Amino acid sequence: MTEQARPCDLLVTADLVMTLDDKDRVLRNGAIAIAGRTIADVGPADVLAERWRPIETLDGRGRIALPGLVNVHNHTPLMITRGMIEDIGFAPMYTPGIPQGHWLSEDDAFALSSLGMYELLRAGCTTVVDYYRYPSSCARAAAEIGLRAVIAGRVHDADPAALATGRYEYSRAIGERSLKENADLIERWNGHDEGRIRCDWAPHAPDTCSDDLLREVKKLADAHGGNVHTHLSQLPVEVEAVEERTGLTPPQLLDKLGLLNDRLIAAHCIHLERSDIELCGRSGLTVAHAPIGNAKGGRIAPIMELREAGARIALCTDTFSGDLIEAMRWSIAMQRINRQGNVLDARTALGWGTRDGAEAIGMGDSVGSLEVGKRADLILLNNRSPSLAPMVDGFGVLVHSASGHDVDTAIVDGRIVLSGGRLTLADGDAIVARAQSVAETLWQRAGRQTIL
Ligand SMILES: [Zn+2]
Repeated sequence: MTEQARPCDLLVTADLVMTLDDKDRVLRNGAIAIAGRTIADVGPADVLAERWRPIETLDGRGRIALPGLVNVHNHTPLMITRGMIEDIGFAPMYTPGIPQGHWLSEDDAFALSSLGMYELLRAGCTTVVDYYRYPSSCARAAAEIGLRAVIAGRVHDADPAALATGRYEYSRAIGERSLKENADLIERWNGHDEGRIRCDWAPHAPDTCSDDLLREVKKLADAHGGNVHTHLSQLPVEVEAVEERTGLTPPQLLDKLGLLNDRLIAAHCIHLERSDIELCGRSGLTVAHAPIGNAKGGRIAPIMELREAGARIALCTDTFSGDLIEAMRWSIAMQRINRQGNVLDARTALGWGTRDGAEAIGMGDSVGSLEVGKRADLILLNNRSPSLAPMVDGFGVLVHSASGHDVDTAIVDGRIVLSGGRLTLADGDAIVARAQSVAETLWQRAGRQTIL
C-alpha cells in the first residue's frame, strides 16, 4: 500500500475474477475494491493492494469471483408446492388438490418467501424478480435477507378456485383486490433501501386476466414505468381459453392491448405459432426462460427461434429450484434436443443468467457484470470444489459442471449477505423450520400429511 492509497470499505480478492464485462476479462489473482454500495476498482490483486486502503478485506484465496446471478422470474411463496407438483405436470394455479395461493395468510407467504429467498441467495442469485399474492411479504423477505429484488403482485380476475377445476370465471372483486395489492406494494416498497427493492406490475397471464383488467394494468404500468411481468403461452389450456374468448393467440391479444413490447418480461413462451414467434421477436420482449420447469412439464420453448426473431432471452428458475447455474446447463441441453444440433454455448447461457437478465429488467447499468461504477453485487465460488477442476477457460466448467452449492459468499450493494454458505442477516435454520411448519398446516388442509 502506498502513501497515496485511497480509502475503500471492502477489498475482495480471488484466485479468478470473471468480470463478464464487454471484453470478458478474466483476472488471475484479481481483486475488487468496493466503496459504499459501488465497485470502485477491478484489477490485479497486487495493483489494487497498492491503490486502496480498505477498512475490511475479504481474502478470496481458493475462491472464484463472479457477478451475482440474475433470476428474472420466480414466485417464492409457491415453494409450498415444491416436490409435490413436478410429477403432476401442470402449473400450480391450474392444479386441484394442492395448497392454493388464496389459502395463504400474509405470514404464511412471508415464511415461504423467506425460504425461497434464502435458497436463491445460497445458490448465488443476488437479483430476483418475484411475484405472487401478498407481494409485500416477498419484498420484506428480500429486504431482510439482503437480496436485490424486483417484486410485483399477482394481478388476475379469474377465480382461482374455479380455475383449479378447469373453469374460467372472471370476478371484478378479485381483479380489484389484486390490483390494490400491487398498488399498495408499489406505494410501500418501490425504491426501498436506495433502490435495492424495486416494484413493477405483473398481470398473471392472458387467460387469467380479462381484457378489461389487462387494459387497466397497461394504463397503470405506463404511469409507473419499469417492466411488466407475465406468463405467456405457458400451457395449451391458456392458449385455448384465450382463443375461445378473443379469437386471438395470447401474443396477439397482448399486442392488441399494447402490452407486447420491449418492457415485457414474458415467462415460458412455449406454445407459439410461427407467426407468434415473429410477433414476439419484433416486439423486443424478453423471454424469461425456465428450462427446468418446462422440461419437467414435458415441454420445450422455441428459444433459438425466438432469439433469431429478435426476442431477448434471460433465465429463471420459476420457483422450484434456486439454482440458476443448473438452469443455464438445462437451457443448453434443451435447445440441443430441440434443434438436434450443437447450438448454444456456456458463455451465452452464463450471459443469460447475468448481464442479459440485468439488461432485461432495466439494471444493465447497475448489475450483471463486475465493472467500475456498478453496484457491488458479486458471488464467490469455492475454487477447491472438485466440480470446478480442472479450470481452463472458466466458462465451460462453471456452466457445465458447477452448481449453486459451490457458492460460498454473496455480496449485495457492498454488503456481505452470505458467508461460508450461511446468511449473515437472518437465521437460515429458523427460516427452514418456519416454512416446514406452514407447509404442514396447508398440506393437511389439502388432505396430505407431511412425513416430518
Ligand atoms: Zn411463473
